[in-house]
Amino acid sequence: MRALVKAERAEGLEMRDEPVPQIGPDDILIKVAKTGICGTDLHIWKWDEWAQKTIPVPMVVGHEFAGVVTDVGSHVRTVKVGDRVSGEGHLIGMKSRMARAGHFHLDPETKGIGVNLPGAFADYLKIPAFNAIHLPPEVDDEIGAILDPLGNAVHTALSFDLVGEDVLITGAGPIGIMAAAVCRHVGARHIVVTDINDYRLELCNQVTDAVTVNVSREDLHDVMHRLRMSEGFDIGLEMSGAPKAFDQMVDRMIMGGKIAMLGIPSGPTTVDWNRVIFKSLTIKGIYGREMFETWYKMIAMLQSGLDVRKVITHRMKAGDYAQGFALMKQGSCGKVVLDWG
Ligand code: NAD
Ligand code: ZN
Repeated sequence: MRALVKAERAEGLEMRDEPVPQIGPDDILIKVAKTGICGTDLHIWKWDEWAQKTIPVPMVVGHEFAGVVTDVGSHVRTVKVGDRVSGEGHLIGMKSRMARAGHFHLDPETKGIGVNLPGAFADYLKIPAFNAIHLPPEVDDEIGAILDPLGNAVHTALSFDLVGEDVLITGAGPIGIMAAAVCRHVGARHIVVTDINDYRLELCNQVTDAVTVNVSREDLHDVMHRLRMSEGFDIGLEMSGAPKAFDQMVDRMIMGGKIAMLGIPSGPTTVDWNRVIFKSLTIKGIYGREMFETWYKMIAMLQSGLDVRKVITHRMKAGDYAQGFALMKQGSCGKVVLDWG
């Protein structure tokens, strides 16, 4: 089969011929239809410090996918051949306290396909049947292929009650933009999205009615005045990983405000804890998606009018992957979807 492999401990990826994965009794085999390129894949492409520490070589990468089941292991009862699925790319253990309490997403032994284990940028992918998510007719393959990042957006946005609240989202990457759409769908009042990249903010304007602010030249205070927000944002969703964005967020929060942190800073950063303490802020870290509440809620929202399709800006054949990665590097794209048909 074709597979996009991190073949060398150096920049880039290689399309190679690899054996189809062998499934075990609890696994399913999926013929991959579409995959999304993630920021994580770009880190792996670039072979940055994080990738060098994390990624085994050689390995098939990729973790955002949708496809059709072509084989199931002998123990599998919940999935059958022909089912159209996406899936949770975090594989968990069942030994920890949190996993045994049913909080699967908090298992410390979590391993990621395409990061620690062979991934989805291939004609065929193996995952445990436990991780499969059935796709209803309203969710086609290209939306199925971006449920992983949509799930990050949903998990973060649903961390706190948003109804009637004013929300600040820092970072208009695909996840920040999708989070803005989710906030609107569930009933937030003002939604303000910041970035320093005009392409991304323009894309956000096409997907949502959130107010967009380029903080490299506009003052967030002015925007808050215009919206008649006297006290500050009730909820903050940090989706840039930029320390400056977090600082700005803490500064603009209401007393007792709540912040959910998804963005990953490139290293340790300093925080003015005095401001966090004296504003009585609540800060919650977010990793991945809740298994499987996030999946349930996001599919329900897609079935009831949540529309994130415009966040997919580029569609291309799997063989043109290098072009997709070049776009990601420039930041002049939303989601890039590869077609394995
Ligand atoms: P992305 O890199 O495409 O988007 C981040 C955006 O932040 C970019 O558009 C960038 O221009 C913007 N930005 C940079 N500095 C800024 C500033 N000072 N103020 C406002 N915006 C600024 O990333 P994405 O794919 O949308 O993902 C969002 C973040 O979430 C990334 O940091 C990613 O690594 C992280 N992530 C975390 C998890 C998790 O499980 N915690 C999962 C997926 C992604
Ligand atoms: Zn991803």
